[in-house]
Amino acid sequence: MPLPKGSVSKPEIYRDELAGFFKGWANPVQTLIQRLDPLRTNRVEIHDVEALPYWTKGRVALLGDAGHSTAPDLGQGGCQAMEDALVLANTLVANNISVEDSLKRYEMIRKDRAADVVLKARKRSDVTHGKDPEKTQQWYEDLKQEDGTEIINAICKTILAGPLH
Ligand SMILES: Cc1cc2nc3c(=O)[nH]c(=O)nc-3n(C[C@H](O)[C@H](O)[C@H](O)COP(=O)(O)OP(=O)(O)OC[C@H]3O[C@@H](n4cnc5c(N)ncnc54)[C@H](O)[C@@H]3O)c2cc1C
Repeated sequence: MPLPKGSVSKPEIYRDELAGFFKGWANPVQTLIQRLDPLRTNRVEIHDVEALPYWTKGRVALLGDAGHSTAPDLGQGGCQAMEDALVLANTLVANNISVEDSLKRYEMIRKDRAADVVLKARKRSDVTHGKDPEKTQQWYEDLKQEDGTEIINAICKTILAGPLH
């Protein structure tokens, strides 16, 4: 179950908390929990932001999380920042009108793509993190049968929908 928003984060109880959450999991998981250094462990709340109406103003543009902060569940936040960077560089190199025009073209190419990934990650995050515990349980059950094919296919699909291929 997700913890309530704003739960207090106390490093001194991380190990006990995690041991509780992962009770009954395999021994390597328990060993990992006991070996983690709570003072070097960062606990972050998972969130994203709604799609912004625009990413650029004049000669200023947003890139990466500043433009489209994403739930981490698809492993796509950093990837989208790299896609932004590639497209931004290309629009700057290829444009002989103005920097402002390049940035607008960058925004036009990237905004819908990033918004789509943010929504997909949000959907996955809901399933992974127990918004509906039954769906989450089912997801873990399905995962037990997974041989990796579906995961690779999904990763390929995400990459092929972007500019990095
Ligand atoms: C738990 C977790 C797992 C993740 N897993 C993945 C993954 O598997 N794959 C993936 O692609 N992405 C993943 N991400 C997302 C990824 O980390 C981010 O999307 C990515 O780091 C965004 O890069 P960024 O450069 O936009 O922002 P950041 O990495 O946040 O960089 C912004 C930088 O600006 C600096 N800064 C802030 N304010 C100022 C200021 N006023 N002046 C100067 N500097 C400032 C900050 O210190 C920081 O260094 C994950 C994120 C989390 C939290």
